[in-house]
Amino acid sequence: MKNRSIPFKLTFWFSVILTVVLGFAFLAMRFSSGMVLQSTIRNYLISTVEENTDKIRYVDDREDTDANIYIPYEDGFLEIDLDFMEVIQDVHTALYTEDGRMLYGENPLSRQMPDVRFEGTYLWNTKYDNVQYDIYDRCLAIDLPDGRALWIRGIVPESRELLQLKDITRLLLIILPFLALLSILSGSVMIAKLLSPLQRIENAAEKISAGEDLSKRIDHGPNNDEIGRLARAFNMMLNRLEHSFETERQFTSDVSHELRTPATVILTQSEYILEKERGIREYTEAFQTVQKQAERMSALIEDMLSYTRIDQRPELYPFEALSLSQIVKEVIGQPVSEENKGITVSAELTEDIKISGNPELVRRLIQNLLSNAYRYGRENGHIWITLHSDNGKAVLTVKDDGIGIEEASKERIFDRFYRGDASRTVQGTGLGLSIVKRISEIHKAEILVESELNIGSTFRILWDKV
Ligand code: ADP
Repeated sequence: MKNRSIPFKLTFWFSVILTVVLGFAFLAMRFSSGMVLQSTIRNYLISTVEENTDKIRYVDDREDTDANIYIPYEDGFLEIDLDFMEVIQDVHTALYTEDGRMLYGENPLSRQMPDVRFEGTYLWNTKYDNVQYDIYDRCLAIDLPDGRALWIRGIVPESRELLQLKDITRLLLIILPFLALLSILSGSVMIAKLLSPLQRIENAAEKISAGEDLSKRIDHGPNNDEIGRLARAFNMMLNRLEHSFETERQFTSDVSHELRTPATVILTQSEYILEKERGIREYTEAFQTVQKQAERMSALIEDMLSYTRIDQRPELYPFEALSLSQIVKEVIGQPVSEENKGITVSAELTEDIKISGNPELVRRLIQNLLSNAYRYGRENGHIWITLHSDNGKAVLTVKDDGIGIEEASKERIFDRFYRGDASRTVQGTGLGLSIVKRISEIHKAEILVESELNIGSTFRILWDKV
């Protein structure tokens, strides 16, 4: 059973439960119809006997008509209406003296049980020759000259009930298995149909794990039931997986590409140094090149690690309510690592603007924008930093009057490792703005860029205030 498919298991248990339920239903129906039949027949027996009670009288003289039957009794007659029901629908009725002598009527048991006494008006039953009989005795309220009583006894064999019950049972025995079979068949077809997306999920998962095709998706149809939702969730998971794999592949290829140049330069320079003995000036130049490339590699590795950490594990950077004004002020106050080029920085900051965010990430974002403004700023140029509130948003602007960005590059400056042609002469990794973009996404902040070649660039970040 363990290795059976879910449709098989469901059909199996569904069939077992259905059979048990129908079995119980059958027993209950048989039992209740037996009870109903028995009480119907008993009621019929009693009402037949009761109806016969006023059809008997004691008279002194018989009338000269054929309307009644006359049985001599003592000095007179017992007058019995012609419509006295002796046998009707298996109910036999007979008239008795109180010592059990049958005077008139029919009783299938009168011969076999002549000595049964009348003990009162009540319903009882007895068994004779394997047949159960219901019997109803009724004492008549007739004044007889001998002061004794007359009785009517009604009797009905149970075989009539049994026959009817047998018919019902037979009908149930045909209908119930047929219904069970029909339900099991339609149920198994439904189960197989409903669970067919599971089969498709399994096939897709197998193909993916066999490395066949990550672009495969499950056709979930329009259904929005649990399986439809599971298939959709599975497809979404595949989308994310495919995206992650693609990003990972792209990242690895970008990283290798970016590291190859400095590594090659370092190798060639080292070979050059070791080739033969050289003059001090040549050594110095070669080592300076090696140092520059090693710095570039180190910066690349550092930025890559930061980017991956921020991108993959944002949960490492918990949010808190923080003063953006304070952080901007701190970053501006820090010494600049880039060459200053005589740039003047002016800041116009509204005090105490608060946002919800991670201080380390927010600081990093501002540092990256400021560092770009320095690196792509012009000699003796200017950087303007402003922070103010606008429409419930905190707006941070970093503006420079540097080299600017060409129209064609604006779309790509946030891509990883993208470096504008004009910026190749400037030291950089191409990861600064990718980190800015990821930090903005994590903070649900918006980035706007305005730039004109040779005039300058403005980066604007819009945060939700708290
Ligand atoms: P990096 O500065 O290390 O090259 P970034 O991701 O920070 O990498 O920037 C990507 C590119 O965007 C830069 O190479 C440059 O061409 C352009 N850029 C970024 N900031 C500025 C700016 N303030 N002025 C002009 N160009 C910029």
